[in-house]
Amino acid sequence: MHTQPRLKRALPQQPAATGAPAPKLARLGALHPDDMLFVLPLRYEDRTRVVPIGALLPGMRAVVEGEVLLAEIVFRRRRTLLVRLADGSGSLTLRFFYFSNAQREGLARGTRLRCHGELRRGPLGLEIVHPEYRRIVGLGEPLPQTMTPIYPATEGLTQGRLRAAVERALRSLDTSGVAELLPESLLGRAGLPTLRAALEFVHRPPVGTQLAELAAGRHPAQRRLAFEELLAHQLSLMELRRRLRRDHAAALTDPVGLTARLLAALPFSLTGAQRRVLDEVESDLGVATPMARLVQGDVGCGKTVIAAAAAARAIGSGAQVAFMAPTELLAEQHARSLAAWFDPLGVTVSLLTGSQPARMRRAALQAAASGSAQLCVGTHALFQEEVRFSNLGLSIIDEQHRFGVQQRLQLAAKGNAATSQREHTPHQLIMSATPIPRTLAMTLYADLDVSIVDELPPGRTPVRTVVVPEEKRAAIVARIDEACRAGRQAYWVCPLIEESEELAASAAEETAAALAEALPAHRVELLHGRMPSKQKDRIMQQFAAGTVQLLVATTVIEVGVDVANASLMVIENAERMGLAQLHQLRGRVGRGQQESSCVLLYRAPLSEMARARLAAIRDTNDGFRIARRDLELRGPGELLGRRQTGLAQLRVADLARDADLLDEVRATANQMLQAMPERVAALRIRWIGEREQYGRVG
Ligand code: ADP
Ligand code: MG
Repeated sequence: MHTQPRLKRALPQQPAATGAPAPKLARLGALHPDDMLFVLPLRYEDRTRVVPIGALLPGMRAVVEGEVLLAEIVFRRRRTLLVRLADGSGSLTLRFFYFSNAQREGLARGTRLRCHGELRRGPLGLEIVHPEYRRIVGLGEPLPQTMTPIYPATEGLTQGRLRAAVERALRSLDTSGVAELLPESLLGRAGLPTLRAALEFVHRPPVGTQLAELAAGRHPAQRRLAFEELLAHQLSLMELRRRLRRDHAAALTDPVGLTARLLAALPFSLTGAQRRVLDEVESDLGVATPMARLVQGDVGCGKTVIAAAAAARAIGSGAQVAFMAPTELLAEQHARSLAAWFDPLGVTVSLLTGSQPARMRRAALQAAASGSAQLCVGTHALFQEEVRFSNLGLSIIDEQHRFGVQQRLQLAAKGNAATSQREHTPHQLIMSATPIPRTLAMTLYADLDVSIVDELPPGRTPVRTVVVPEEKRAAIVARIDEACRAGRQAYWVCPLIEESEELAASAAEETAAALAEALPAHRVELLHGRMPSKQKDRIMQQFAAGTVQLLVATTVIEVGVDVANASLMVIENAERMGLAQLHQLRGRVGRGQQESSCVLLYRAPLSEMARARLAAIRDTNDGFRIARRDLELRGPGELLGRRQTGLAQLRVADLARDADLLDEVRATANQMLQAMPERVAALRIRWIGEREQYGRVG
């Protein structure tokens, strides 16, 4: 089996440990040798020269050589071997917590050593903890002639084995070469090296290479690989779009006028932006080619009603609609509010989630299969294999930025598989609150048409945001008391605990108990992701109905929750959250007529970055500005959602860093589709893999 390595991204900038699910590197052994060439170093070390001890600084990684002056075992908190090493320019300490007797004996006074490691300031001056070291015999081994690459090693696949495999692959370049897939004219024009030169460089940067440029990912060799990778993704998405355009969909014309009836029954009229976007959606739905449209708009701009109107058009044409949300909480809320709109029109809404009792789930499955459920709302459970629709005409995906491109495409594929016996492909409507800059959107969503809702419903007052230190907690609690006495409602968002949802839930429980005690006049309830679905549902309903005044919650309420009377939000440990997340959370208030506020509680000391984030969120409510700031501050990882949205798994490219390549990538993609179709397929196989094609298969 030929499997591509699923690396997140393999260039410096991001530390190796930032949460990417461990790639299936253990399977690298099964890779074609050429694939090894595309397993790129995470970072590099300069081991090509020996640094005099006197010139060392804390934080550096360096090669040093010297003579052992003293080796002794000391017993402080733990048994430690300390070795004093000197080279005439100065001395430093090597510190070992684990060592064998043989090792200690080999480090006798007078022994000459070459060591490598990270320098830090220790109690006795500069030191290296557990250096890599080797005894120098005679003149010693020659130093390496290239920078030392550090590959993304994992358990079972060590640095040494990776290096050896890459080495073999590099050697085989001499005999078999590697296909150049970029147009030659582009290389000349854009000043990019050939693939072979780029690969040789990134795996073996020569002596004297500026590590800073490499670490920043700005070296032409890296830019060339990034270009090729972005191109491969762009081409795949464009292909997908072309294929989709060849399919047939049912033209949804709503002869019974269900959309008009739905809109007439709403307590408000659509904003100009909603009307315009709905027109775009309706004209897509009216033709026999599948729609693939993304509706982007800031939190609170009213995307749900656009989706509902589209659903009405499908149902009014006799088709079923699948409406998917990323969390159970949101799916339940949608089911409730859509039912309130659709029940009076005689349309059946059903709910399908993973945690439903078996009996309800069976009923929902049955209703989807028979067609009696016209609007099926659910989590990704909606697209599991056993789900069959009788006549699916439209799938709607809400908050798609929570899913990621790859997952979105898989979902679309499943949506289609569910109706595969039919000649019709469902239309797709995708909604996202993450505003992203245009060039980025044209790459990430190259397979989609994009509509933007750039207006909020009238009468909204911007949320007032304040940044307050944790010590002022008591004053904030008093403020909640006051607001609730005045008939308002509030959210208290508990800190995100990355390591465990369980910990987050138990921390939230404690906070809820403390707040309930501090606010005896009000009803305080707790909501977290681990609660049984029924209980969550009940609490959300009570909060929506106003019988609960303060909702203490984990970040489960981040997406989509909509209770207009809630006008105060406190976010604890706001300094730990990303900008996109803070903006989404804050979007839960400011939905009604009254002025809303958001209190960002932080625990000092604030890092530079946290301070900048909190200032950005305090200073504007505009999602597009926040997104731009986010991009400046930390690249698109956060902006596009931590679950690594972006283009599937980017190995080399970084969408923020390489954004300036995107226009050229698009132009090249168009050129290649016309002129070099055979290279298009080869690029996809090289970067994305054969099995894991973008989107649908067949
Ligand atoms: P989002 O775009 O974040 O999904 P929602 O669809 O949840 O936003 O809408 C936010 C709130 O605004 C909802 O309570 C919705 O009923 C309300 N709303 C939507 N459109 C309008 C409108 N044109 N006028 C007034 N209120 C509206
Ligand atoms: Mg929404």
